[in-house]
Amino acid sequence: MTSNAPATPALPADLEDAIARLKQERDAVVLAHYYQEDEIQDLADHVGDSLDLARVAQRVDKAVIAFCGVHFMAETAKILNPSRRVVVPDLAAGCSLADGCPADAFAGFLEVQRKQHPDLVVVSYVNTSAAVKALSDVICTSSNAVQIVRHFADRPIVFAPDRYLGAWVAKEAERPDLIIWPGSCIVHEQFNAKALAQLRVRHPDAEVLSHPECPPAVLEQSHFVGSTKKIIARAIESPAKTLVIGTEDGVFHQIRRSVPDKTLIQIPGMDESCACNRCPYMRLNTLEKLYLCLRDLRPEVTVPEDVRVRALRPLERMLELSS
Ligand code: SF4
Repeated sequence: MTSNAPATPALPADLEDAIARLKQERDAVVLAHYYQEDEIQDLADHVGDSLDLARVAQRVDKAVIAFCGVHFMAETAKILNPSRRVVVPDLAAGCSLADGCPADAFAGFLEVQRKQHPDLVVVSYVNTSAAVKALSDVICTSSNAVQIVRHFADRPIVFAPDRYLGAWVAKEAERPDLIIWPGSCIVHEQFNAKALAQLRVRHPDAEVLSHPECPPAVLEQSHFVGSTKKIIARAIESPAKTLVIGTEDGVFHQIRRSVPDKTLIQIPGMDESCACNRCPYMRLNTLEKLYLCLRDLRPEVTVPEDVRVRALRPLERMLELSS
């Protein structure tokens, strides 16, 4: 049987080697988030959380940034360093938080809030589109959200788009009046508080580390709540031999590299039969797609210049406030 479909060019047998060569030829740097597959983390030039990667992207002096993460992260790199070409392995790698806060609906929400609070400050999580960032006064990540909210102690604040992170920040910063957009992360919202309570009975000496995007019933049972990077650091320095972890399981790779003897247990999800603790968007990226995006320099992430300019200021403000 014959087919009219165009033949797919064969991929090189040694993808790691081919990617290393392409990086040289394209004058490219590979940035990877902690939630990427182990093999992508291992060959990246920089691995980090959203804040680290934004800082690194701003300073990149290579021609091309190959961003292995999700779309809003690549957009952030483009906003901060517009003369670089930003390519991604898979353009469909989005984010439920960013998708759950469309710019037009958010603009309408802010208009209503401003009628009641003319001196409103809009603090948006980095997990938002460039268009939502452009509507914001300052961006935050889970690493610096409490610090940034505290900075505006005397002003009414809208916090978007994660309801659980917002509730945690409100508590930590003692700002119960925070006006919170009701979004959530499909990975973190599914960690199961009841299953965690059972795990704590079975492992009484374990330390529980959770990301603030988890529901309050999970956070209340956690010994440590922090960003991805802070969870990794705490897991490494903790005296506990068993760690129960409530975040995407990509972090396990970095923890195991440093403390291979510790026992790592993931908090079970609501549906224990699925791998819901793996971000389906992050996991769209593969080594094969990274090779192809470096070879073809696409798909490319672009941001309209007027949006980029408006989104740049709140991002720069975040970097200033968290330096
Ligand atoms: S883990 Fe959640 S917040 Fe992070 S990219 Fe995936 S869907 Fe978005």
